[in-house]
Amino acid sequence: MEKKINEILNALKNVYDPELGKDVVSLGMISDIKICDNTVSFRFTLTTPACPLREHLKRKAEEAVKSIPWVENVNVIMDARVRSRMTSPEKKIKGVKNIIIVVSGKGGVGKSTVALNLAIALKKLDSKAGLLDGDVYGPTLSIMGKTKAPPLVKEEEKIVPPLYYGIPILSIGFMTNPNQAVVWRGPMVHTAYRQMLFDVEWGELDYLIIDLPPGTGDPLISITQLIELSGAVLITTPQEVSIADVRRAGNFLKKMNVPILSIVENMSDFICPHCKKNTKLFEGKGGEILAKEFDVDEVIRIPFDPLLTGLSEEGIPLLEEVKESPASSSFIRLAQKVASKISVLLNPD
Ligand code: ADP
Repeated sequence: MEKKINEILNALKNVYDPELGKDVVSLGMISDIKICDNTVSFRFTLTTPACPLREHLKRKAEEAVKSIPWVENVNVIMDARVRSRMTSPEKKIKGVKNIIIVVSGKGGVGKSTVALNLAIALKKLDSKAGLLDGDVYGPTLSIMGKTKAPPLVKEEEKIVPPLYYGIPILSIGFMTNPNQAVVWRGPMVHTAYRQMLFDVEWGELDYLIIDLPPGTGDPLISITQLIELSGAVLITTPQEVSIADVRRAGNFLKKMNVPILSIVENMSDFICPHCKKNTKLFEGKGGEILAKEFDVDEVIRIPFDPLLTGLSEEGIPLLEEVKESPASSSFIRLAQKVASKISVLLNPD
């Protein structure tokens, strides 16, 4: 039996995870090997359910084991366990493994839209995701992420966020009067963030997405002080004039040791719903320039999709309505990229 198990492990050592740069056995991804006559079954635990290479790795593992002469059937049980990047206990949120901030230089570039759809895409890829609207100056997620129930306060004084399409969501807009002007001073932002992060029953989450106000003001500083972040997603539009502020935010994050996980270029093109012709909406290579500067290998381009605007108004996430469209595919690709980048950061060479 031991000989056969070694044979299987040796075969699986030929299966490489190209993103993590090691074979799947050395990465500790293989367990529960069972042999019954000529049938082999084992568990293959990925570092994230949102792994873009999931099907590829499964197929490679099956092929590798099937290449052993006595093996006739292979049964791979795919599984995933997301690890946490948080190390300092005082900056940890109970149950939350990774926190990702969504940042832009200016308002109106689609930051909240991306934050919401990223959380939904992660959920669609079987991860446990949550969403926090930390845009104190313009909390649009309380409108986009319309929920039936207001946040409840439990006996232990913890806020229980309502569920929005299965993801816990909390917005500063749930707590303030949307028509009343609140002058957010630095210490107030800090206190509000502390409450929305630590006094909330977030439950078990693989990824908590935080939508921050644009720019490099008090909110960004507070959030980097309060919690340990797994990384940031930078949102820009293609115009090169719009990237100066995003660059500033990115440079600040770099200085604070917050990795840039992805660069999103929103509203890159318009794909005509009738003739499918792709028209570039703006000149410029904003995303490409930032990706080079921040060493990000792929720009995620999200086309302008009128359906996305309409659904946002109604509080419906695009991925709940349209599974296959250029914009929904971009959100899935973004979720996969973000999740796999975190896995890579957690598994350094
Ligand atoms: P921000 O958070 O950067 O201020 P929002 O996410 O609130 O921006 O987006 C501003 C407006 O643009 C919203 O009405 C939203 O529905 C719309 N929008 C954002 N991205 C797209 C897109 N790719 N296609 C169509 N409409 C979009």
